[in-house]
Amino acid sequence: MRIPSVNEVKQCLAHLYPQYPLSYFTEPARRVTALIREKWQKGELKDLTEERLIDLAKQVFEAYERPSLQRVINATGVVIHTNLGRAPLAEKAIQEIVKVARFYSNLEFNLEEGKRGNRYVHVEELLKEITGAEGALVVNNNASAVLIALNTLAFGKEVIVSRGELVEIGGSFRVPDVMKWSGCILREVGTTNKTHLYDYERAINENTGLLLKVHKSNFAIIGFTKEVSSEELVALGKKYNLPVMEDLGSGCLIDLSKYGYSKEPTVKEVLAAGVDVVTFSGDKLLGGPQAGIILGKKEFIEKIRKNPLNRALRIDKLTLAGLEATLRLYRDETLAIEHIPTLKMILTPKEKLKKSCLKLVRQLKKIGLQGFTFKMIESSGKTGGGSLPLLDLPSFVVGVYSEKFSPQRLQEFLRKNNPPIITRIEEDFLVIDPRCLFPEDYPEILRAFQRFKNEFEGSS
Ligand SMILES: *Cc1c(COP(=O)(O)O)cnc(C)c1O
Repeated sequence: MRIPSVNEVKQCLAHLYPQYPLSYFTEPARRVTALIREKWQKGELKDLTEERLIDLAKQVFEAYERPSLQRVINATGVVIHTNLGRAPLAEKAIQEIVKVARFYSNLEFNLEEGKRGNRYVHVEELLKEITGAEGALVVNNNASAVLIALNTLAFGKEVIVSRGELVEIGGSFRVPDVMKWSGCILREVGTTNKTHLYDYERAINENTGLLLKVHKSNFAIIGFTKEVSSEELVALGKKYNLPVMEDLGSGCLIDLSKYGYSKEPTVKEVLAAGVDVVTFSGDKLLGGPQAGIILGKKEFIEKIRKNPLNRALRIDKLTLAGLEATLRLYRDETLAIEHIPTLKMILTPKEKLKKSCLKLVRQLKKIGLQGFTFKMIESSGKTGGGSLPLLDLPSFVVGVYSEKFSPQRLQEFLRKNNPPIITRIEEDFLVIDPRCLFPEDYPEILRAFQRFKNEFEGSS
């Protein structure tokens, strides 16, 4: 068999995709010839017809053109999935990002006075309005928020933290490490399960710079436990004239206990308890873009703003546009719940999920896959992203069982779909959880199963 030259394949690609200049095809053409050579050596290709060449060229070029960072379908039921990009944004936030991306903006320009302004004003007043904070600042993410706050408030000094709160979040954020790189000295007190107020008090000395409380984002200690409340820590801070900081991690702006979930202190409540500096993420429960939000007493926020590290950790204009639009929705709780996807997904009633499942089961059965069972199963979802670790979201899911294919095999097939469909496995079932599905995801899921049938049962 004659293997076509790179130039011949280039011509073939140029014919298929006339919108590109010929020079664009050099690399994909090399990949096509390499694939043909490989297939020929393995004995998978005996004769290269014109039709087969076009087929392979298309296949290679489409893979070459597919962005590395791409949309996926989240069928895992985990709402704030760090691996899957955390929070999908509200429509309004997307629109504002597009506008600021396309045109120039007043990012650092004061339109009132016609002179240089600062980028933080775009969310500062809004954050104060919805949380009651005296001061507000935003940075790149919550890890930077914690880093810069520690560095500003307690550089070279001891920071007292409960041993039960020395958390690791997703591997790269560990409280002891962040402490070290911010130039502070970690002073851990108490035990894993119990820390008392007197543990903090006994550790205070002339080199103490800060009392820190960290939200146990992704785990819970239950049973014989004791943790010191924000109020108690604030009182202790007052007594010794020490600032108190709380890393809330996710940061609830809405009291979810009203909707039947367990009580988490809201940002407003933590600030009202008198905590001097509070930090949390923009892309966890808040449902906005990646950002770190720092709220608290004006004097501390001003100091943090002036820290030279702030220039290195500064928030980008697209993020600011998305964050401002998301925060505006929080001016009214019903507006937030209706328009912010993460909140909407967390609060989706079980009955609605049941309806989605029944419909999907019906449509999947219609495809007529041999040896497949599709059925609705009662299950539970997770908020994820280090928020509400104990909370199970009551759910219905679609279970897929095949006599011939393992759930792992099905999971892999769906993961390699375009767009990729990310699922979970429960016992022998591949599970499709409707909680985080968008309306446009359903036809893609059906198409993927149809493709499975075509590939493994022949296109009958
Ligand atoms: C998630 C989390 C962080 C890190 O926040 P990022 O926005 O991912 O940088 C820090 N602390 C706590 C307690 C968290 O839950």
